[in-house]
Amino acid sequence: MNPGEPDGRPGDADEPGHGWQGRAAAVVTLTFDVDAETPVLAHGRDFAEHASTMSHQAYGPDVGLPRILDLLADLSVPATFFVPGWVAEHRPWLAPSIAEHGHEVAHHSYSHRPPTSMTAEEERADFERALAVFDRQDIEIHGHRAALWEASWQTTGLVAEHGLTYDSSLMGDDRPYKVATPAGEVVELPVHWSLDDWEQYAYLPAPHIGSVIESPAKVIELWRAELDGMRHYGGLFNLCLHPFLSGRPGRALALRRFLEYALSRADVTFARCADVARTAAADPALTIRHPQPPAAEPDVYPH
Ligand SMILES: [Zn+2]
Repeated sequence: MNPGEPDGRPGDADEPGHGWQGRAAAVVTLTFDVDAETPVLAHGRDFAEHASTMSHQAYGPDVGLPRILDLLADLSVPATFFVPGWVAEHRPWLAPSIAEHGHEVAHHSYSHRPPTSMTAEEERADFERALAVFDRQDIEIHGHRAALWEASWQTTGLVAEHGLTYDSSLMGDDRPYKVATPAGEVVELPVHWSLDDWEQYAYLPAPHIGSVIESPAKVIELWRAELDGMRHYGGLFNLCLHPFLSGRPGRALALRRFLEYALSRADVTFARCADVARTAAADPALTIRHPQPPAAEPDVYPH
């Protein structure tokens, strides 16, 4: 089937013989990064003393998350929740409660410090510390997303080395692809800034994590256009949302409207990241990439 010509049947990412997307024109992976306080503390431990700023971040797990879980249950939509190990450790009820709702919990670093800001040894230690938290909580982990989507050149190798199926931090395509690493191949479920609520809604006076508060109506228009594009070209609509941002009332209501639109398209299917990664890993037609740093000559780029 040409993915640009949907046949009107609901897709099934598990259906054999149709590649990673089953019979769907576009696959939606609805993802929530449950960052809580971590992106602010990554800017400076002193922000722990800011009661207002900490309450702004705690709103995510305390208010946004249960609202989102209710919304997903209402619409019977599966999702993937990327949780920093620090958040899972400080709120031991959080990851098990997500899993109990039938959703996937995935690795989102331990500290939310971006890999590009750490040494190779620090990144490895942070990566493994998060895995140890999930292991203690009996949460099965299949995939990883780098903090701030700032993966280093060793990140996908760490994902492969620790036996995970997929990463979701790179932007080299708009459909799944395989990344060859020294420790074997992993599936990449690519992301893009246009499908991240951070660029639409993130505002704090300090630290500088964003300075926008867009209208949910505009945001939904943007995501609808991108979903229709994915339906035309056959892509992965990998939406990244944050409970402290999209959990707010007007935004949650707009998200509901957007999901109702997507659910009403017969050629769109929803799946958890781990399920898409599993079918993608078995798809022989998937592109294999060998990413490596470009040769940036010092005489051309002196700084
Ligand atoms: Zn995050």
